[in-house]
Amino acid sequence: MARGNAVHAAIELVGNDMLVHGEATPIDIADTQLEECMEAEFAAVEVWRDDRFKVEAITRLNFEAWYWEVLPNLEVPTSVEGPFRVLLDEDEERRIWLTGTMDWVQSDRIIDWKNPSKPYARWEKQRWDNQSTVYSYAVASETGDWSPKKFDLCMLCNGDVHWVHITRDEADWAALRDKCRALADLVAAPLKVWPQAWNSWYCSPKWCTAWDTCRGQFYPKGEPW
Ligand code: SF4
Repeated sequence: MARGNAVHAAIELVGNDMLVHGEATPIDIADTQLEECMEAEFAAVEVWRDDRFKVEAITRLNFEAWYWEVLPNLEVPTSVEGPFRVLLDEDEERRIWLTGTMDWVQSDRIIDWKNPSKPYARWEKQRWDNQSTVYSYAVASETGDWSPKKFDLCMLCNGDVHWVHITRDEADWAALRDKCRALADLVAAPLKVWPQAWNSWYCSPKWCTAWDTCRGQFYPKGEPW
């Protein structure tokens, strides 16, 4: 988390410079900004789940890769870390709003920065990624332009750059609306329990704060894999 947050924060500063001045921050200043972002982010870490020096090294590698390999191919953004709140659905009883913050938007696409340990598979993201559907819907809704939208995941992995390019259109947004209606019904239902979701890296004693009282109660010796 801290690694990704620091890289995000440094990219945001460069992007804001581009918004104001029309050009990117020089590398020496950008590097200084990265160090300040790292200091601020890492000071807030309570438990290091990875070696701190390794995290610092990868953070620097990822930002350098972004600066030299990604930035030269970007347009001046139209927004950086821009918040949105758009209406997805409404009936007589309820409204469903989508909210979030987009890392980077430019004239031809939305871009989201990721710092995973290994690249994602494109087919998985195209098939079930929610973020791309929500963000592209928000852009279409805000601009009134309902043509297909491009959403790019830019993955910075140990100093290497990988891309997943996703396209979303009206069929995806209609399916999202249907999915969220069902989810809203579930939230409104007087359920005593919720289905457990195991199919994520998050479902582990390392990351989930509810592990001990949820799935983890059946594995008293710790992580079972
Ligand atoms: S352990 Fe956490 S992530 Fe896994 S099912 Fe329970 S609440 Fe969800």
